Amino acid sequence: MPVPGGALPFQVEGSLQCWMVGLIIGALVLVLAILMAYQRYVAGKKPVQHLCDYCGHMVTAVSDCHHAPVRERFLHGTCLECKKDCRLVCARCKNPL
Ligand SMILES: [Zn+2]
Ligand SMILES: [Zn+2]
Repeated sequence: MPVPGGALPFQVEGSLQCWMVGLIIGALVLVLAILMAYQRYVAGKKPVQHLCDYCGHMVTAVSDCHHAPVRERFLHGTCLECKKDCRLVCARCKNPL
């Protein structure tokens, strides 16, 4: 005699596990997305500090053309004074970073 609903608890449990796994993966992806957004926000906010090989200090980068603040890109930057591409130099000793 078949037990009514005998297979049902297993099925419910199985779909519940799938649902939980989906929820956990979704939560992890959400946390990662928030962390990345936060890192980008923080990186955009505070000036990046570089270790200068010449004077040995943690310094902010300035442009080589005007010694003005730069919007930093990868390995180069945009001078905020003339809006052109520039190299990054040490704010203290003006040597290239
Ligand atoms: Zn320096
Ligand atoms: Zn400039």
